[in-house]
Amino acid sequence: MIRENLETVEKCVKDSCIRAGRRPDEVTLIAVSKTKPVSSLREAYDAGVRDFGENKVQELLDKMPELPSDIRWHMIGHLQRNKVKYIVGKVALIHSVDSLRLAEEISREAVKKKTSTDILIEVNVAGEDSKYGVTVEEAPLLVEKIAALPAVRIRGLMTIAPFTEEPEQNRPYFHKLKQLSVDIEHKNIDNVNMVFLSMGMTGDYSVAIEEGATCVRVGTGIFGERCGIKL
Ligand SMILES: *Cc1c(COP(=O)(O)O)cnc(C)c1O
Repeated sequence: MIRENLETVEKCVKDSCIRAGRRPDEVTLIAVSKTKPVSSLREAYDAGVRDFGENKVQELLDKMPELPSDIRWHMIGHLQRNKVKYIVGKVALIHSVDSLRLAEEISREAVKKKTSTDILIEVNVAGEDSKYGVTVEEAPLLVEKIAALPAVRIRGLMTIAPFTEEPEQNRPYFHKLKQLSVDIEHKNIDNVNMVFLSMGMTGDYSVAIEEGATCVRVGTGIFGERCGIKL
């Protein structure tokens, strides 16, 4: 089932790229495997997936040693400062940085490990109370402050759009994040490259791609529904 789902999603990603006049290789599909067993990740891996997204540090650490080492792990969930030390040096990209203090902790840990960590700034574009992330207005200043840290590299922006049955409703938010990323890029801040735009989930990734997403984070569309509470 996972293989078939994956083929469907990959085809849809490709079609969306073509519709938008973009090259399909501009978009990375991140398989969001939170709550799913290692056997499901293995199935996706065997079908070609190399980018996996998890939202909990402990779950990420549990799964990592069970799977091949050429996987790029993406931390996409809210990250507490006291957990930073467990993932720095292990994950390819942290998508959810929304404060200077968190970035400072990541940088401190990366210095200690003689590495540097690629991060995205999470922006709460729709201004939902329930979501983490900085506002569109706060983002540029936060980027400038974080850019001064020695061992983090800002590689772009991320947003989690509102849950909706109607993906078109999220188009303005995706458009706004793209605009923000262009505005920040134009500031030519040292150590900052707006190469990634992480936006779009199962319900709205086509629209996100049309608006410029370079990473889409798809869980349900690949692995099926998650049981229990909505995560
Ligand atoms: C769970 C999650 C996703 C994937 O959601 P689906 O709707 O299952 O595709 C994407 N991004 C983040 C940050 C998530 O927590």
